[in-house]
Amino acid sequence: MAAVLPVHGKQPNILFIFSDDHAAQAIGAYGSKVNETPHLDRLAKEGMRFENCFATNSICTPSRATVLTGKYSHLNGTPVFNRFNGGQLTGPKLLQKGGYRTGMIGKWHLGSDPTGFDYWEILPGQGDYFNPVLYTASGQKKYESQYVSDVITDLTINFMKSVPKDQPFFAFCGHKAPHRPWEPHPRYASWKTRKVPEPASLRDDYAGRTDALRENEQTIVRDLTRRDLKLTPPAELKGAARNQWLNESPEEVTVDGRSLTGDELLKWKYQRYLQDYLACVQSVDDSVGHLLDYLEQSGLKENTVVIYSSDQGFFLGEHGLYDKRFMYEPSLRMPFLVRWPGVIKPGSTQTGIAINPDFAPTFCELAGVPVPEEMQGRSLVPLFRGEVPGDWRKSMYYRYYHDPGHHNTRAQIGVRTLTHKLIWYWKKDQWELYDLVKDPEEMKNLYSDPAAAAVREELKVELQRLKKELRDEDQFAREDPPGTVDGSVERLRGN
Ligand code: CA
Repeated sequence: MAAVLPVHGKQPNILFIFSDDHAAQAIGAYGSKVNETPHLDRLAKEGMRFENCFATNSICTPSRATVLTGKYSHLNGTPVFNRFNGGQLTGPKLLQKGGYRTGMIGKWHLGSDPTGFDYWEILPGQGDYFNPVLYTASGQKKYESQYVSDVITDLTINFMKSVPKDQPFFAFCGHKAPHRPWEPHPRYASWKTRKVPEPASLRDDYAGRTDALRENEQTIVRDLTRRDLKLTPPAELKGAARNQWLNESPEEVTVDGRSLTGDELLKWKYQRYLQDYLACVQSVDDSVGHLLDYLEQSGLKENTVVIYSSDQGFFLGEHGLYDKRFMYEPSLRMPFLVRWPGVIKPGSTQTGIAINPDFAPTFCELAGVPVPEEMQGRSLVPLFRGEVPGDWRKSMYYRYYHDPGHHNTRAQIGVRTLTHKLIWYWKKDQWELYDLVKDPEEMKNLYSDPAAAAVREELKVELQRLKKELRDEDQFAREDPPGTVDGSVERLRGN
């Protein structure tokens, strides 16, 4: 793919804000019914909102590896929580060669040290919400009495300030929030009393669906732990017994002297979960506000492309779930907002299908650096201009490997078009098919519906076509990648 000359005659700065587990349905600009995000909405209002941006393997470390390399999991060697090979070609390395000063701040979570960055300061593994430790190539620092989202914001601004005025920068601002264990800053304490609306599918009975939904262990009702729910252990419990108590999911909770079970307990768990999750989202929204303010105040706004995204989506009670991994919309969909003054039409939306392998090629084209052949994604720059090229993809390929992993979620392969989705849980050869236009909540599995036979067969052909085109030759076999079965692949640093 040919390089383009940067529109303003010089290479734009790139500020890439990448949060962890932030679902699009928890962003005002995406029509959130559960929270407000004024600063992200400002980014959308001044830029473009992608309606159809998807993770190709909806889980943290694999998504990050894909964003860096422009390749699917089967070719970048990181299908599960295994250590990323930083020796391979990445977008940041190419930007660095192209004259950019590159900085990586915050959540990295790839198990190996960053490569391709002139400056990096990252959380070990998942990192902590309070008093976080961050480390650099030469040492580490504990940020006492500080909150992780604020620390990452300040360090990102410091990095941008440190870059000589005549050099473009690529700043990767990686937020930990709103990842589990959802520990909000006390300044968002008012969330504790908010009542969050429930999604229509909170009590999904999984009728007509495959075993995968019934077998999973990421349900609000059965799997949120006392730790997740911020319950206080009895004082007499110590050590391992205390830990065990915290790691169990309670079947009964006493609130204000009342015993809650059954549907009352589900309602309470949902509120506890969403209150904390959304309060953590608010710290990310505040961060976006500070970063946008800095760009304006420093005169950098006009020549800086700002992108906001998250490594995958998240279930906020849809299908009774939390977490991600499944190919259903709340998990598959990544938020993607981009502002580029003078190029992107303010307040516009884009419905072309974008995927996370597109991110690295996009960074390259923005920088005027040729996109290497080996990257499997395509630059989104034409889509930023409001166009969708005639040969743009009409479908996307999905593959999730981490089975049983931490949540007993089945391995799956799937294809999504603008109107339909086919999912194959290959271990039991079970299938699901959804009409996303008539059934956006994905409640009705049409796989065995004779009326859907034609589209089912078309999608099966398309799935095999994509698999071949993308060179997914079952690199990890149809077997599980090493270490996935017991959920204890090589521990990432700090976990
Ligand atoms: Ca994540």
